[in-house]
Amino acid sequence: MQDQLFINGRFVDAESGETLATLNPHDNSVIAEVAMAGKADVDKAVKAAQAAFPKWSRMAAMERGHLLLKLSDAIDANRQELAELESIDTGHPLRDTLGLDAPRTAVTFRYFGGMADKLEGTVIPVEEGFLNYMLREPVGVVGQVVPWNFPLMFTSWKMGPALAAGNCVVLKPAELTPLTTLRIAELMAEVGFPEGVVNIVPGLGSVAGQYLAEHSDVGKIAFTGSTATGKRIVQASSENLKKVQLELGGKGANIVFNDANLDAAVNGSAFAIFHNQGQACIAGSRLLLHEAIADEFLDRFLKLAASIRLGNPLDLQTEMGPLTSRMHRDRVLSYCDVARAEGGRVLLGGKAPDNAELAEGCYVLPTVVKASPLDRVSQEEVFGPFVSITTFRSDEEALAIANGTQYGLGGGLWTRDLQRAHKFARDMKSGMVWINCYKRVNPGSPFGGVGLSGYGREMGFEAMREYTQVKSVWVNIDADMRPYYSR
Ligand code: NAP
Ligand code: MG
Repeated sequence: MQDQLFINGRFVDAESGETLATLNPHDNSVIAEVAMAGKADVDKAVKAAQAAFPKWSRMAAMERGHLLLKLSDAIDANRQELAELESIDTGHPLRDTLGLDAPRTAVTFRYFGGMADKLEGTVIPVEEGFLNYMLREPVGVVGQVVPWNFPLMFTSWKMGPALAAGNCVVLKPAELTPLTTLRIAELMAEVGFPEGVVNIVPGLGSVAGQYLAEHSDVGKIAFTGSTATGKRIVQASSENLKKVQLELGGKGANIVFNDANLDAAVNGSAFAIFHNQGQACIAGSRLLLHEAIADEFLDRFLKLAASIRLGNPLDLQTEMGPLTSRMHRDRVLSYCDVARAEGGRVLLGGKAPDNAELAEGCYVLPTVVKASPLDRVSQEEVFGPFVSITTFRSDEEALAIANGTQYGLGGGLWTRDLQRAHKFARDMKSGMVWINCYKRVNPGSPFGGVGLSGYGREMGFEAMREYTQVKSVWVNIDADMRPYYSR
């Protein structure tokens, strides 16, 4: 298991020699002591990336793509190991890390590997005698800071487009979950990525992350995390006016109408909130039920939620693992008191499971709370297996509730009414809308939010555009230019 920083193609200790323990949230045992990057290490990483940039950015795009394709094959070949490592570091059930996280990581790198040589410039029809063309050039050294909820997948979401477009990367994983990112770096070295193109600096957000966001030799900072930290990143970025991309929090509205296919809606809504222990920015954490079907829906939803199998993530029967840290578990549970204080009712869960085998871990039972739309639990991101439920009577009311938070990442609706479906897709204030499904993600489909959920898009051509800057080139072909000055 790699436990050092990855700088300039080598695994090295931090200059300070300091380390940080990474824990297994199933029992809070220490998995590894991981080197902790400070400012000096970030400086070294940025220098290595700068040095690698000229060659990497001018390499044939197809060759860069080929390395990403080789990496995705290596991820597939090491799927079991990566999935197990992700499960012990994050608490995600192995059935997910094996079936979703690891294969999606490979697929996303593969997608961007194929994309590398397909990002074209354009020729602009300007006045006669001139040729004007637009180039998309890489930004240079890109800083990337990611959270702990999907660390393996985020390596591909972040590094895939950045590298395909010809940038060099310094990535800071979350302090809680650095292990799969370091293993990906090792695989990158094995498949032949040149030294310095990718550098991984595990460490504290307040130190390594902050410094990367401030760094004058970093041309862009791409961040996934909380809205509060996103605001700090923007401030830090002003030092050299670097480009900023922000994927922040969400409070997804999941609306079930009275004409919905209830079987599909119940199942899909449970997936929307309980998958990954609810630790997803796009979780459907607000469930809006039409009052005509609310009782029947809730009856079935609560039964399904209560039947979800909690347990050791490495057990393939487990459907829900622990939250990723003890501190986060306590924060999620504290929202039950927040709900009660405002008149909300906890209908299910709201505590750790009784099971003695899970007592040392960061487990929380699937939690369902009845609350009003303006209550804190309906407005603030809880980021756990915690859903707030409210009812509505009309489409207008549903839309007003759905749009009634400062976030705008993802949202969805369950209905058989085509007109209503598209009307909501048009009117919902969010970067993504799911109709009769939830939390669909694909490397080709733009991912990102509006409002306090941030700006910029990951995935697809949009992501490639985010990692490039435009240059406009003017050529005088045969224009007969009258001199500006007559002498
Ligand atoms: P967080 O506290 O904002 O941390 C995210 C990352 O930022 C971590 O690597 C963290 O380091 C680092 N960081 C902390 N302070 C920093 C600073 N001053 N400067 C630079 N970096 C800093 O978020 P979290 O609570 O770990 O993650 C959950 C949040 O991420 C939720 O709000 C969730 O919605 C959001 N998220 C959004 C998306 C999306 O695509 N929109 C996807 C997933 C998650 P440490 O590890 O040391 O804290
Ligand atoms: Mg861990």
